[in-house]
Amino acid sequence: APSPSPPTFLPVLERIAEEIERTPGRGRPADYIPALAARDPRSFGMAVAELDGTVYGVGEWREPFSAQSVTKVFTLALDLAREGDELWEHVGREPSGNPFNSLIQLEYENGIPRNPFINAGALVVTDRLHTRTGDAAGALLDLLRTESGNPGLTFDKEVAASEAGRGHRNAALAHFMASYGNIDNPVPDLLEQYFRQCSVEASCADLALASAFLARHGVRADGTRLLTRSQSKQINAIMLTCGTYDAAGDFAYRVGLPGKSGVGGGIIAIVPGRCTLCVWSPGLDERGNSVAGVAALDRFTTLTGVSVF
Ligand code: GLU
Repeated sequence: APSPSPPTFLPVLERIAEEIERTPGRGRPADYIPALAARDPRSFGMAVAELDGTVYGVGEWREPFSAQSVTKVFTLALDLAREGDELWEHVGREPSGNPFNSLIQLEYENGIPRNPFINAGALVVTDRLHTRTGDAAGALLDLLRTESGNPGLTFDKEVAASEAGRGHRNAALAHFMASYGNIDNPVPDLLEQYFRQCSVEASCADLALASAFLARHGVRADGTRLLTRSQSKQINAIMLTCGTYDAAGDFAYRVGLPGKSGVGGGIIAIVPGRCTLCVWSPGLDERGNSVAGVAALDRFTTLTGVSVF
């Protein structure tokens, strides 16, 4: 077997972790459910996965956290792999400029959400994946486990239950789109799948490895293909333009990589053809992105000169 890649970026990660440690002001953890509110905003972890599956990191890079909207990338990949371009008749590909849980565009765009990474769009993707697999959340878990090599990766039942308890807005989005005929499954079934999806617990190591197919132009860890090269490019492009809520322009400007964040404080970022990164710190800015996470990715591309530009 070929020897694993050397941890090329480890010295940079160490420097970034030291800088972050000295930086005051980490934002505030999401407080809409207790499990997220309880996390320490000073937690920080960052991992790099090389294309051959070598993974290394700094800080709490092996600590599981709530993946939340980071999972939207993986359900999109799974559905696009199955249905191809037909998906784009049901969800758009434009940045929304509105908060992730906004209802506002749906009415004048006939129940077609702007993109797959706002909640409305992610609900459509999960609905379509559920129709195609009979178990969207299970298909997601399967992909994450296989690509990360971590069979213990799982849902947090308490988080899923809290999501359901506080899920009025997601329920409203799903029902509203169903009224336009853009949801296949009964709304309660879809919401159960979506809340389980949000509740995935995974570490920086897990998520960096699991997203490596997007750096390998669609090829999975075992060498088989999940996505065509074009589809992999398309998902990376949507991450760049829509992956960090209504701050995607600022993220692209500062980091220069396709990225996807979640309200648990995790962010994945892809360097196509080279490596993937995942950073986690629970304190968020007012648009829902991890303060230390964006800062760390900004420093990574600045210090290394590695970006898609
Ligand atoms: N469970 C959250 C919601 O659907 C996920 C939000 C996020 O990570 O963007 O409201």
